Amino acid sequence: MPRRKEVAVIGAGPAGIFAALALSGMEGARVRIFEKGPDIDERLGNRRGPKEERDPKWLLCGWGGAGAFSDGKLTLSTEIGGQLRSYLQEGEAAALVEEVDQMWLRFGAPREVYGADEDAMAELSRRATRADLEFIATRIRHLGTDRCPMVLREMRKALGENVELHAGEEVARIRVGQGAVSGVETTAGRRYRAEYVVAAPGREGAPWFMEEASRLGLGRADNPVDVGVRVEVAAETLADVTAAAYESKLIFYSRSFDDRVRTFCMCPYGEVVTEQAEGITTVNGHSYAGKRTPNTNFALLVSTRFTEPFHDPIAYGRYVARLANLISDGVICQRLGDLRSGRRSTLERIAHGLVRPTLAAATPGDLSFVLPHRHLSGILEALEALDRFAPGVGSRHTLLYGVEVKFYSARPRLTRELETEVGNLFAVGDGAGVTRGLVQASASGLLAGREVRRRLGSQ
Ligand SMILES: Cc1cc2nc3c(=O)[nH]c(=O)nc-3n(C[C@H](O)[C@H](O)[C@H](O)COP(=O)(O)OP(=O)(O)OC[C@H]3O[C@@H](n4cnc5c(N)ncnc54)[C@H](O)[C@@H]3O)c2cc1C
Repeated sequence: MPRRKEVAVIGAGPAGIFAALALSGMEGARVRIFEKGPDIDERLGNRRGPKEERDPKWLLCGWGGAGAFSDGKLTLSTEIGGQLRSYLQEGEAAALVEEVDQMWLRFGAPREVYGADEDAMAELSRRATRADLEFIATRIRHLGTDRCPMVLREMRKALGENVELHAGEEVARIRVGQGAVSGVETTAGRRYRAEYVVAAPGREGAPWFMEEASRLGLGRADNPVDVGVRVEVAAETLADVTAAAYESKLIFYSRSFDDRVRTFCMCPYGEVVTEQAEGITTVNGHSYAGKRTPNTNFALLVSTRFTEPFHDPIAYGRYVARLANLISDGVICQRLGDLRSGRRSTLERIAHGLVRPTLAAATPGDLSFVLPHRHLSGILEALEALDRFAPGVGSRHTLLYGVEVKFYSARPRLTRELETEVGNLFAVGDGAGVTRGLVQASASGLLAGREVRRRLGSQ
């Protein structure tokens, strides 16, 4: 009997899960998913436990990856949330996104889609143009932080017998022999043979993957780094916009530096939250399907590319985030009015503001100590434009939390099937710098998983 082929998937976030789903049920192939965090039920247990006993690392690690407790907005777009279009023709990328959407639906995503009303989208687009902004219409399906883990658990249940989850096993090295991948080695020193490896380590594992890529001599293409703040306003300020589009993607080019400033991850009636990665605290947002706060929040991010010889946008983003951590106990919160007046916010000033912070643990402070002039001026200019689009966004009571950093991780050079320069080693999802959202991460995993399946089928 021919020996079973082995496939190792590194990371059980959406990218790794969809790669495994593509290979599920395949006779003649065993798929091992290595995940350094715990399985989904353990994660849920940890989250339900007392706050002081929760392990913040499990917010991002374990079955479901960063997707498990994410806001669960499925952005059904080839333009947003990843770079699939760098690898596939628009039609192919759109078909893949559609397929991924159908799969999420099958596992329990809600049927309702925001942004499908073309007239409303056209009106928002006109409003944006008048405000010096570009509006990108997107269809969005919203799971909510409470429903996300349940849907991901359904995916876990659907995996065939040929797929094994190795929860709590972290991959330390990708092993290569004679130009092709040969297996993985865990931090506990266990070696596993694998004819195919799909690396899907997410943002959490991106620094590790970058080191591995260097060690394996993989060529890299740098990505921009986005640094900015999370903006929190009274939900009424954006109510008509979020009702029509749920999430509006608005793009502004700064007058001072011509940098691209964009809104991202709008969370209607949501909450601002902290995020921990590699000992650094940054800010993020989410909203629940079944619970509302009086506020809406969104990220406002300035994209920059660096000048030679610097090639480490992630280190830059972390450096700025670390600065915010240094002068606060984690995340800084400032009223826009205080920032404009050149003074710090205090607990008292925030307390008598009209927008009550949903992240009460943020330290009132001064973001101008942290954000470079280039970023700060881009943010202030964009808020002026956003105030023309939705009056009230630029109110002095608007809260800014810093910093929010979004980077595409360093991207290895990849083929259209997302194979690296090492044969049979694929790199997908956020950790490979290919994506930055649930849908495209899932799509990238599916793309690579299918290619592995095709090759296994032809052997
Ligand atoms: C608070 C929050 C809200 C978000 N909201 C949204 C949203 O509404 N919509 C959206 O589209 N996106 C959202 N995102 C982003 C989305 O979660 C990610 O884009 C998506 O999860 C990326 O999928 P991935 O599989 O590439 O990586 P991840 O989901 O990060 O999964 C990677 C997994 O790999 C594991 N891992 C890493 N290194 C190793 C290793 N060496 N060995 C073994 N395991 C390893 C990690 O533990 C992790 O579980 C949000 C993210 C956060 C944090």
